[in-house]
Amino acid sequence: MRASSIERPPELIVFDNSYARDLPDACVAWQPCAAPAPRSLFFNRALAEELGLDVQGLDSPEGVSIFAGNAVPAGAQPVAQAYAGHQFGGFSPQLGDGRAVLLGEIIDRRGQRRDLALKGSGRTPFARGGDGKAAVGPMLREALLGESMHALGVPTSRALAVVATGESVRRERRLPGAVLTRIAASHLRVGTLQFFAARGQIDTLRRVADYAIARHDPALIGDPDRYVGLLGAVAERQAALVAQWMNLGFIHGVMNTDNMTLSGETIDYGPCAFIEAYDPQTVFSSIDAAGRYAFGNQPAIARWNLARLAEALLPLIVDDADGADAEIRAIDRVMPVIEAFPAWYEAHWRAGQRAKLGLSAAEGATEITRLVDDWLALLHAHAVDFTLGWRRLVDAAAGDDAPLRSLFANAPALAPWLARWRALSERDLAASGLSPPERVRRMRAANPAIIARNHQVEQALAAASDAADLAPFERLLTALRHPDDEKGDSAAFAEPAPRAFTAGYRTFCGT
Ligand code: AMP
Ligand code: MG
Repeated sequence: MRASSIERPPELIVFDNSYARDLPDACVAWQPCAAPAPRSLFFNRALAEELGLDVQGLDSPEGVSIFAGNAVPAGAQPVAQAYAGHQFGGFSPQLGDGRAVLLGEIIDRRGQRRDLALKGSGRTPFARGGDGKAAVGPMLREALLGESMHALGVPTSRALAVVATGESVRRERRLPGAVLTRIAASHLRVGTLQFFAARGQIDTLRRVADYAIARHDPALIGDPDRYVGLLGAVAERQAALVAQWMNLGFIHGVMNTDNMTLSGETIDYGPCAFIEAYDPQTVFSSIDAAGRYAFGNQPAIARWNLARLAEALLPLIVDDADGADAEIRAIDRVMPVIEAFPAWYEAHWRAGQRAKLGLSAAEGATEITRLVDDWLALLHAHAVDFTLGWRRLVDAAAGDDAPLRSLFANAPALAPWLARWRALSERDLAASGLSPPERVRRMRAANPAIIARNHQVEQALAAASDAADLAPFERLLTALRHPDDEKGDSAAFAEPAPRAFTAGYRTFCGT
């Protein structure tokens, strides 16, 4: 026999499963359930490449079988993860992966550990009343939004694959089923720590927190103040993340603590949507009647969620030796982080706004603050499309005001603001030494033309789900991957939805 024929073929995915290995008390070993007739809908070659996977080998029936949950690849150690969460303000002590399994972790080409998980792969012990399944539409939605956010430079979980299962799932009506393969820096959530804190399982809580530190904040390993440090690091990442959302007009839609990561990645694209006509009170989610997760509330909700994280970490920060007032002193140590969060967020958001306005120098901070506030007030008063308003400001920086003026029903209202912006811009250019074309280039990067427009997303998903036609999905995906390109085939994707569509638009949790 020739040597080559007895060599085992290289694995399509090489796993290293630290979660299952180090935190057996935080998850349940669980197998995905098989799909009757799996068929590939989406395979993310660029991401597979980045992960160092066998791209060719996975873009095959064998890959589809893995992504459907029908074949568990060698080296995987599937588990369902436990977590709790505050949902719309009320605490659910046990949520967990009801329809997901973490197959394992991979070390990507940059040496980063990434989770590879299936979503929609059947009921787990955490399923409660759910069927454990997912539908084609919401899973492709997650793929689209993740790719879009990634292209926009926003930290996010991403879809490696979506496969149709060949069975239907019962929702308001029967829908084709699908499984999503999700890649994330980790699936650790605020709710993961809440789960163990709520049960008083302090040893496991400590192990999970130390695991989170090792994975996301290794500089804190061994630091006696590491749990306060972890809180601060998560708060800083969330401040940066939510500022990016706010500067892009992104509404997450369901910022429950189980949907807020410790890694600072966006996760769970259920009822999310982008605002069109600018209004901070915008809500699209059908289940958010009170507007808790409205666009403008997101920074305050992030802070609220971080306070819940602080509570969960408190037992680790309280030192028994500290005596009777130990808890009060522990609270004194976490409160500065929670109180600092709004300023951290504001700093990220303001920096983003300055970049969007094409103002690089930090001088004239008060004037810039007023300029930003007045600009947003103008967009709001004139119901201007948020994305286009900013994008056309780039055209104005390049010398052409007309496209911007055309967005305002009452163009003269814009003139005094434009004059102030130009005056500040000139001073800023002189101070920074930036060339005008370079400034325009930077402004373009900060003001994308292509976001995932709600009507385009719905159209693409309806075609894929109702007619098994993936062409609109693929066209939209291509446009979203090049957010700066508003010419040619992409032009249609830069256009806002008809007003009537947006007025009646409702999103649903991806269940
Ligand atoms: P989500 O709204 O997707 O963030 O999910 C909230 C919780 O409900 C998590 O514990 C999910 O695992 C669970 N869940 C959502 N949909 C289903 C389903 N179809 N079957 C089982 N569990 C589900
Ligand atoms: Mg969730």
